[in-house]
Amino acid sequence: MIYLDHAATTPLDPAALQAMLPWLQGEVGNPASDHAWGHAARAAVERARGQVAELLGAQPEEIVWTSGATESNNLAIKGALEFRGLRGAHLVTARTEHKSVVDSVRQLESQGLRVSWLKPDAQGLITVEQVLAALAPDTALVSLMWVNNETGTINPVEALAPRLRERGILFHVDAVQAAGKLPIDLSRTPIDLLSLSAHKLYGPQGVGALFVRKRPRARLSPQLHGGGHEQGMRSGTLPTHQIAGFGEACRVAGERLAEEGARLAALRDHLQQRLQQVLPGLHLNGHPQDRVPGILNLSFEGVEGESLRASLGDLAVSSGSACSSATREPSYVLRALGRDDELAGASLRFSLGRGTTAAEVDRAAARVIEAVETLRRIAGAGSAVPVTPPVNAHGYPAAVWAAFSRPVHAADLGEAAVTATAGSPAGALRLRLQAQLQGGRIARAAFQAYGCPVTLAVGEWLAGWLEGRRPGELHLSAADLRTALEIGDDKAQCALLGEDAVLALERQMSLA
Ligand SMILES: *Cc1c(COP(=O)(O)O)cnc(C)c1O
Repeated sequence: MIYLDHAATTPLDPAALQAMLPWLQGEVGNPASDHAWGHAARAAVERARGQVAELLGAQPEEIVWTSGATESNNLAIKGALEFRGLRGAHLVTARTEHKSVVDSVRQLESQGLRVSWLKPDAQGLITVEQVLAALAPDTALVSLMWVNNETGTINPVEALAPRLRERGILFHVDAVQAAGKLPIDLSRTPIDLLSLSAHKLYGPQGVGALFVRKRPRARLSPQLHGGGHEQGMRSGTLPTHQIAGFGEACRVAGERLAEEGARLAALRDHLQQRLQQVLPGLHLNGHPQDRVPGILNLSFEGVEGESLRASLGDLAVSSGSACSSATREPSYVLRALGRDDELAGASLRFSLGRGTTAAEVDRAAARVIEAVETLRRIAGAGSAVPVTPPVNAHGYPAAVWAAFSRPVHAADLGEAAVTATAGSPAGALRLRLQAQLQGGRIARAAFQAYGCPVTLAVGEWLAGWLEGRRPGELHLSAADLRTALEIGDDKAQCALLGEDAVLALERQMSLA
């Protein structure tokens, strides 16, 4: 298993684990309790608060604990707007923000907030001028992420902050992908609210923080009501073990920031060069220079996203599409950069981390190159498919997997063969069947296909099924295909495509 998905979550740092252990075994005490046990827990929490503040160049009393950055973003945006009042309020944000920002803003928009949704340039960047141009007299808040989690592009938040301060506009920054990767100094950068998540910087999952500036004071309405913890901004018993781990993770991140950044940038560039040397038709998603060291996002021409993902086996990366059933949902971030659905769907985000080695990067590159070349050949760029069957990591039915991972019939039989195509040539699904007739029987059949693994499996299975049959005996329904390959309802359209292709082939043979 090669883990290149550190932008999704990182492994726990050993030092962070050590800081957590006492609070998981042996120690007991609510940090809010007024006795020795409580005081000890409180001390651990305050130590961690200092460590988080230190990483940001902030004061400890400006750190508010939360359950993660989703909560921090909700608290910052809803809290600030609720405090100010929604009536006549305007907010500026970008289409490329994390869902937890986008959906918090949408929620307020549905209640009457006016919102300017900025569109990034083709590299995913939002410029200072763009933000300033969107401001209105009643703009209450600008929310802009420091680093985009999909592309790694760095927004110019440091240049923007003083311009917003001059105008008295609150500035919230989702810094989840920047903290521990880029130097942050809030003593010099007048950001008012800043969100962090522990599990993106080698701390535990389920804990985060919101920096809330004291001078000038950023005012928030609490979103959770209860015991009045965290200066009334966020009620709830503090999870001492999580917080202790988070603090320690910040300390380690600060220590390693410069050295780790240089190492990851070199590995990332190596991965990009290796892929670009071998594979034509690659598109970089993100800014070529202004991006964090560990993230590389590429779109691959001529391959379908779900099949690409399925071919990667033991390589853990993120892909640009949440592809399920009839609805394909290519990444809204890549769509905002101007990528079409196909390229947005056929994208991979490699995010490297502290444990990533040069050997892993080379193995990952080799795996991706093999997958892309294989899928391009199956889609029609040539014959003879060399395949190393990867792991069925996404749980496709065994029959689908067998056909998808060992497509011995993927070939182009040339002009002499009877050829039929089904699907939309420009669309996400295409299946071509070919048959060579000899003595009234199909002596050899082949397929080419562009689509999800089930589509490719249908092509492979059909080519095998066709061989040896007579043109008059090609009776096969989508239901037969679904039974043979254990195809579920969500992929019924792949079976229909197979049925169409067989019908088309029959027609061609009767004409021939
Ligand atoms: C992961 C992430 C979040 C959400 O953080 P959680 O702690 O998992 O809720 C918010 N913003 C960005 C940019 C992220 O990458």
